[in-house]
Amino acid sequence: MMHMNLKYAKESMVNDLVRAGHLRSHAIIRAFMEVPREAFVPKRYRDYAYMDEPLPTGWGQTISAPHMVAMMTELLEPKKKDKVLEIGAGSGYQAAILSKLVKSVLSVELDSRLAHTAEVNLKNAGIGNVRVVTGDGWSGYAEEAPYDKIIVTCATLEMPPALHGQLKNGGIAIAPLGGNFKQMLTRMEKKGSSIVHRNEGGCVFVPLRRRQGTKSV
Ligand code: SAH
Repeated sequence: MMHMNLKYAKESMVNDLVRAGHLRSHAIIRAFMEVPREAFVPKRYRDYAYMDEPLPTGWGQTISAPHMVAMMTELLEPKKKDKVLEIGAGSGYQAAILSKLVKSVLSVELDSRLAHTAEVNLKNAGIGNVRVVTGDGWSGYAEEAPYDKIIVTCATLEMPPALHGQLKNGGIAIAPLGGNFKQMLTRMEKKGSSIVHRNEGGCVFVPLRRRQGTKSV
């Protein structure tokens, strides 16, 4: 690809996401305009930062396609006072988008090398209200629970049970539920002791892995 003007490419991507109906809320559109996706992809992919495609983050993982980040962010109904838990920091891009819309984001990443990458990317993008911790997100992050919202960005057959426990009553969780090759993007809302599920369409995410020695699901 020819070297292109990233600002123009970003505007054009955001316009496409609005036209396709993936981006709806003004605040979320603004967040997409504010966050430099090129800061979250490896240097050699910079020119592709505003294509609506997943891109490698290194170590076999991917940064989700912008339309998927847009859909998940809209489904999460972010509010200024929200404390959000993310499972799967990856590049840090999804957390960066959320950081513009909520009070704080705590993101758990299994691979310490990616956790470090995410931290560096977020710092370079000037974002200060995201904390990245290395750990197995299957257990969530009890230390800072409960959360207003939870977003899982790796595929799992079932919602990790600990996460339901760490979600506030009335809170919303989004996760790709299913096997390795195709999942159902699922919105869950905690209502007292029950969880109301809503299917939001098919998607493909890299699988949630368990820390070595723990049984995979
Ligand atoms: N949200 C990321 C994309 C995540 S890709 C972004 O915006 O770039 C999925 C990520 O989940 C990968 O980085 C992978 O290492 C991580 N992951 C896989 N299993 C995990 C687990 N059990 N706990 C936490 N993170 C996990």
